[in-house]
Amino acid sequence: MDAGFESGQAYGKSLRTVKSCVGSTWCRFGVQDSVAMAIRLELRYRGLRSPHKLKMGVSGCARECAEARGKDVGVIATADGWNLYVGGNGGSTPAHAQLLAKDLDDETLIRYIDRYFMYYIRTADRLQRTARWQEELDGGIRHVEDVVVHDSLGIAADLEAAMAKHVDTYVDEWAETLRDPDRLRRFRSFVNAPGQVDDSITLVPDERGQMRPATAEEKRSRLIATTIPVRSAGPAAGEPTESRV
Ligand code: SF4
Repeated sequence: MDAGFESGQAYGKSLRTVKSCVGSTWCRFGVQDSVAMAIRLELRYRGLRSPHKLKMGVSGCARECAEARGKDVGVIATADGWNLYVGGNGGSTPAHAQLLAKDLDDETLIRYIDRYFMYYIRTADRLQRTARWQEELDGGIRHVEDVVVHDSLGIAADLEAAMAKHVDTYVDEWAETLRDPDRLRRFRSFVNAPGQVDDSITLVPDERGQMRPATAEEKRSRLIATTIPVRSAGPAAGEPTESRV
């Protein structure tokens, strides 16, 4: 947090990441600035709660180094703007994202992504990725196109307003928690015994110098015991500010 990095997006059912290639700034093939667009998308959709994780990609040309078509929303630069692909994923059942609209300017691209994400969020089942949602929709990608591009249901303004509210009210919840003593106290091992250390949690520094949970064998060997600082915002009397684990 102190270095400006936000946490939590890596594991939430929300936007995970926006991958980009180096784009026109650093690549001779690039026809658009994919890095700038990826940053803009990440700042817009970070923290967006959804039925499942969301991944995005932006490639600076058709060579597709960012693998945007393997993402829930993929953006690929063209000489005239951006092509927008939707409904891709990797994992055990990969799916290529499908073309939703071509040669979009920046603002139209963002507007369509706003509508797409909000329509998905409001209609998909819990834990249903965009690819499976599109497969099960009556009409598939053409239905999505009707709703997102042609506003066939007359809900585009509503979807855009919902996304605008998300953007306007976004806060980094993890940073907020670290600043809030009441919320921070929820992360004690024992609520009814705040001064007690949880001996079942043992951490060891691994080969990269980072902490990780000890294996059962390491715990049994009792050769390891390390102390890590525990963030504390104004503990009550008797609560530790450091925990030996
Ligand atoms: S996708 Fe195109 S612009 Fe981006 S790094 Fe690859 S070749 Fe370069």
